[in-house]
Amino acid sequence: MLRAIAGTVLSLSLTASALAWGADGHRIVGTIASAALTDQAAAEVRDLLGDETIADACTWADEVRNDRTYDWIKPLHYINVPRGATSVDGRRDAAKEGEIVSAIIRYRGVLKDRSRPKEERLLALRLIMHMVGDIHQPFHVSYKDDKGGNSLTVQSFGKKSNMHKVWDTDLIQARLKGVKGGWATLSADLRESITPEQRRQWGSVTDPVAWANESFAITRTLYRDAPNPKTGVDQAYYEHFRPVLEQRLEAAGVRLAVLLNDALGTPGASAKPEQGSGKGPAPATSPVQPAAPGKPAPSGGGGASGANPAGSGTP
Ligand SMILES: [Zn+2]
Repeated sequence: MLRAIAGTVLSLSLTASALAWGADGHRIVGTIASAALTDQAAAEVRDLLGDETIADACTWADEVRNDRTYDWIKPLHYINVPRGATSVDGRRDAAKEGEIVSAIIRYRGVLKDRSRPKEERLLALRLIMHMVGDIHQPFHVSYKDDKGGNSLTVQSFGKKSNMHKVWDTDLIQARLKGVKGGWATLSADLRESITPEQRRQWGSVTDPVAWANESFAITRTLYRDAPNPKTGVDQAYYEHFRPVLEQRLEAAGVRLAVLLNDALGTPGASAKPEQGSGKGPAPATSPVQPAAPGKPAPSGGGGASGANPAGSGTP
């Protein structure tokens, strides 16, 4: 009986952890970011989140996966790129139901817009905090035919896993092995290892398409350097990719802070309509045109059109 319960709990937690940078990855990204927020941005984050911690807000988008009300969020965790493509194309790869690139652009706009209702901006904050993490996980910028590596079964440290989960969870768990204090300690360690030059360099890239392209370049190498089928993902694989894993978490944390400082950092500044757009909802896209080349709303669907309030126009 106990074993049956334990089995259920275990399989539930496996299901939950198979979905995105595991919860720990998201907590690490949020915690790295939180230390770099301006006082103003930190105060606004606190005001929007209330009692919810930043670490918890970062995992919210995964926790609501079983709530059908939030089914529309599911496609926003990733972007699919055609086989054979060498880079992400914001317009070509835009999906009707939305994807991670246009979601970040859109909800960044919602967060900036202080005329929006607080609940909309809270939703935008939770989504941004999560998606900036996900877009730095290579297998979230990947191929549709193998579900972003979810159907690439592999032995990982002696257990059945898949390549998506390896990068979401397994490598982070390997990194956490023996770390006293778990993700909180690792967050602090990673944050302290970020050099000023890395902070400057990562922070200067604010276009989600560029973040996706960095991930996709890594994804392509991960397909080329796939684990040996005999040994699977083992200590050698982990050691080889550990610097990449750590830098993706660090870069995501730095960029999340830059985004939040920009969106929330200047009191009142973003209440002005951007680019003189006059009355009505401020287009979420106006400051970020380069991210979506050509037309701002690539497919008319989930894209970056600022005309719909967050979520309300989404199925
Ligand atoms: Zn996710």
